[in-house]
Amino acid sequence: MVRGKGGQMLKTSSVREDASRRPHIGIIGAGISGLRAADILLDEGLQVTIFEARDRIGGRICQSDKLGYKVDIGPNWIASCFLTTPLHATGDKHPIRDLAIETNTPLHHWNNRQNIFTSSGELLPAEKSSELSTLLWDIIEDAFEHSKKNGKSIPESASLYDYIESRVKEKLPDRVEDQKLVLSMSEMWGAYIGHSVNQQSLRFAWMEECCGGDETFIETTYEAILDRIAKVPLEKANILLGRRVSNILMPQDRSCDTIRVATKNAEVFSFDELLVTAPLGLLKVKQTSVSPCLPQRLCAAIDAISVGTLEKVYITFPSAFWTVNQADNFAGYTNWLSPKYATETNPMCWPQEMWNLAAFSPANRRPTLLFYLYGSCSSYIVHLVKGKSTEEHYALLDEFFRPYYSRLPNFAADDENCKPKAILSTDWQLDEMSGYGSYCNFQVGIKDAEEDVKVMRHGVPEQRLWLAGEHTAPFEELGTAAGAYMSGEAVAKRIVDSYVIKEPR
Ligand SMILES: Cc1cc2nc3c(=O)[nH]c(=O)nc-3n(C[C@H](O)[C@H](O)[C@H](O)COP(=O)(O)OP(=O)(O)OC[C@H]3O[C@@H](n4cnc5c(N)ncnc54)[C@H](O)[C@@H]3O)c2cc1C
Repeated sequence: MVRGKGGQMLKTSSVREDASRRPHIGIIGAGISGLRAADILLDEGLQVTIFEARDRIGGRICQSDKLGYKVDIGPNWIASCFLTTPLHATGDKHPIRDLAIETNTPLHHWNNRQNIFTSSGELLPAEKSSELSTLLWDIIEDAFEHSKKNGKSIPESASLYDYIESRVKEKLPDRVEDQKLVLSMSEMWGAYIGHSVNQQSLRFAWMEECCGGDETFIETTYEAILDRIAKVPLEKANILLGRRVSNILMPQDRSCDTIRVATKNAEVFSFDELLVTAPLGLLKVKQTSVSPCLPQRLCAAIDAISVGTLEKVYITFPSAFWTVNQADNFAGYTNWLSPKYATETNPMCWPQEMWNLAAFSPANRRPTLLFYLYGSCSSYIVHLVKGKSTEEHYALLDEFFRPYYSRLPNFAADDENCKPKAILSTDWQLDEMSGYGSYCNFQVGIKDAEEDVKVMRHGVPEQRLWLAGEHTAPFEELGTAAGAYMSGEAVAKRIVDSYVIKEPR
């Protein structure tokens, strides 16, 4: 027996030669879930070894300085829904928001203004866009309620789009043009899930990250938050960077006291427990071979849940020509509905949306527009610039996005301030280690997503294998950084519990 934090007895196997040895936990992945799990396990006195295939920690939390200053190429947002829904998974605390405050990471609340350009490129009057957008969000909130209340009685083929379509007809019976506008505006849902609103399962819409709470955007980057989460693991865990696990050998049951892993370069390690935080997309393609096979129900769950393809494009200019005096006086959000005026570069008329980073507080303000892409549009852009030189990358993306940014106020084609200085685009869907995508989502056709997530969360502890990551997060935080953090925390507590002998009262 050894003592954990708080004096609990930690069980050690009676077959061990050295009974004082602390349980040794292997973790695959040094993303936020793996690091959070490591922190808890170390705090409880367990030994931790982390395998990370990349040469850095953080996983999908990652920065680039290609624009001349640092930006997040993964998450930027923190949505603290508990502020409006007290029973939300995060309870009365939001771990990432709290860490942002602790690390003095500046959070931005967007102004409520938005610009909506119609498909012919006209700016909708502010009153109209505000009215229709309020209606749309009310309908989405109703859809979440409907989904939560009626769950599996909703046909699995029903989409969020279907729901919006039927409700908008009820709400605006005689305004056919406005109905079309609201439906077109509903495409923005794609930037939440990384796929089209037509693909969002209505049955399981309630499981998506809830929206409409306190949505803040990090003005700088997630770097300080990640540093804080990684502090103890960096000091106390054995972190093996550039070590990709290629094989896992599970025991038949817990009577065998080790689980083994082999890395790509054939090193073999044995652990008491193994925590796998590899992204869902990697579990889907069976990037790491697991022997014996994972239970069938777990494989079915992994297959059933989808992975989105959200991508980001930052375009930075010499100055924020669209604002007056470079201040926060322009709409935070701009949406170009299904553009019919740029078919040479955008033949499918994919809608575009962007956030104005010149709105930040003076110290962090940037003359930069951040576009979010998803679904077939993001795949198109990623493949358009794949393998291109910096100059070609710039030229192709500038050509693609000019029809949109040129509609902003004060644009003049011959003004140097209106020519992008640098363009940064992400390609998560080509990144094997992020599972070829952004994060999990629940698409039309999925039958039992709630149970699927529970099955993934459970993992295979009977054979010493546990799972964590954004795809095993608490409901309503699935797919988020907070969810990944909480999933690591929850699984680590379960692992610790499995070693604590419960004394009879
Ligand atoms: C474009 C984009 C935008 C996003 N926006 C937001 C947002 O605004 N707000 C928000 O809350 N969330 C957002 N997210 C989601 C958020 O980034 C993720 O939910 C979170 O970072 C996932 O953490 P994780 O620990 O589950 O996985 P990861 O961070 O992916 O960590 C898994 C790690 O495992 C490693 N690994 C995989 N296989 C192996 C192997 N075989 N051997 C060794 N190592 C391996 C990987 O290299 C990786 O480092 C966004 C994500 C993307 C891609």
